[in-house]
Amino acid sequence: MTNPDIKSMTKEELKGLMAEMGEKPFRAGQIFSWLHRHHAGTWDEMTNLSAGLRSKLSDHPLTTLETVEVQRSKTDGTAKYLFRLPDSNVIESVLMRYHHGNSVCVSSQAGCRMGCRFCASTLGGLSRNLQASEILEQIYRIQEDTEERVSHVVVMGTGEPLDNYENLIRFLRLITDPDGAGLSQRNITVSTCGLVPQIYALAEEKLQITLAISLHAPNDEIRKSLMPVANRFTIDEVLEACRSYFDTTGRRITFEYSLAQGVNDSAENAKELAARLKGFPCHVNLIPVNPVAERGYRRSTRDKVADFKNKLEKYGINVTIRREMGSDIDGACGQLRKKYAEKVL
Ligand code: SAH
Repeated sequence: MTNPDIKSMTKEELKGLMAEMGEKPFRAGQIFSWLHRHHAGTWDEMTNLSAGLRSKLSDHPLTTLETVEVQRSKTDGTAKYLFRLPDSNVIESVLMRYHHGNSVCVSSQAGCRMGCRFCASTLGGLSRNLQASEILEQIYRIQEDTEERVSHVVVMGTGEPLDNYENLIRFLRLITDPDGAGLSQRNITVSTCGLVPQIYALAEEKLQITLAISLHAPNDEIRKSLMPVANRFTIDEVLEACRSYFDTTGRRITFEYSLAQGVNDSAENAKELAARLKGFPCHVNLIPVNPVAERGYRRSTRDKVADFKNKLEKYGINVTIRREMGSDIDGACGQLRKKYAEKVL
């Protein structure tokens, strides 16, 4: 059996491991702090551990990511990072600088199997799930590169986080641990294409994170044309799960709606969407679709996006247009990773 990934372990689990190794429980806290506060790159750096313990730990993987490439925006401080995983899969993460702090968009899987028709990340299918440590490392590496604290995290990079549920929850618990990076749960957003059973499960975790749902359509017919997952769950089922998430956590839901020309951006579409969301404790985030060469969708015009927003507002829906950042290093989400894969293969 391979040794466990210590960087993905909670403090409680580390205590268990220390007991198995015949070590005192306080060692768990020391190791946790080395990993999640000081970001030690080797076991030998952990100088307050005994040489004996360090030697026992040396058989365990110390998961780190290698930075392959960084694209930095010249206009707004946004940066895209391409990282290599220990098994040489690559993933991408994005740093965005806002006045309220630095935010990182992390990947939760290498590839994705959800098959959304407008998305670049799913073109090559799913390679594998990321470990909690590999999601954490994206943030740790970026903090190290910028020497600035990351205060916000959006799980909106490549992958479907709720398709990697256990590792996601582990990641959320670790990144918010006060003895680690100590992020506030309220500064974390998890975005899902709408896996209904996992939304109910997430509500039961009683976390104060924001749940974002990729809705992208006012009805099931349009949604099915964009997202295969819509064949598994209807919008009504997704909304019911969201209602339960709100009832359990008190957190308003964010609905993401990517606007594609002539597909889901008409006044009629806005009206239908407004009727469905009326009275729902939510916020709608409009995103002009990012054209992906293989996909053929075109972004809605600026006027169309503004009209759509006005229409929703008229019906009393809370709505914003996602601010575009780093447009000079653009290429839709997942494109940096894809470009790299094409170069190498
Ligand atoms: N799997 C998750 C999170 C990853 S995608 C989800 O589906 O929510 C993050 C967001 O970007 C989703 O709302 C997704 O639908 C959207 N997205 C993906 N490709 C896009 C593109 N080319 N243009 C606009 N939005 C896109």
